[in-house]
Amino acid sequence: MSTLGFERHNHARCIRSAVDAADALCATRGLRFTPLRRRVLELIWQCHRPVGAYDLLDQLKSERDGAAPPTAYRALDFLMENGLIHRIESLNAFVGCTHPDAPHQSQFLICTSCHRVAELSDPAIERQIDTKASGAGFQPERQTLEVTGTCDACAVTR
Ligand SMILES: [Zn+2]
Ligand SMILES: [Zn+2]
Ligand SMILES: [Zn+2]
Repeated sequence: MSTLGFERHNHARCIRSAVDAADALCATRGLRFTPLRRRVLELIWQCHRPVGAYDLLDQLKSERDGAAPPTAYRALDFLMENGLIHRIESLNAFVGCTHPDAPHQSQFLICTSCHRVAELSDPAIERQIDTKASGAGFQPERQTLEVTGTCDACAVTR
């Protein structure tokens, strides 16, 4: 699986391996990967652009004759809690995690032109922030690092 969504790749394989990884992770943890949870994960993985909760509900509605299941938000919470998706705070939207098997801090690269997002999870960056923070007399818990810019594909078409 490609770490960076900006590279050309077979995205169908991306979706498949994300769903397979979720399946395996739920089985290991004894969690139920319900059809709704699976569908919400697939919708978020449709492309490497973050999906907002309202858009997600709209898509579920159109698939299910006008009724978004009341459990849709809980499905989102479930996927978040289990590290299968991340929320991009600055966009208030969700992206699939590329390696949900281990807890990690993420650094997100956000293309402001095509709106695709790639996830880095570089422990060196994480450690650096931790070290600087404790040097400043601060105990960090969660790091939210969102970097905006232009991906290579958008840069050449400019
Ligand atoms: Zn992909
Ligand atoms: Zn992740
Ligand atoms: Zn781009």
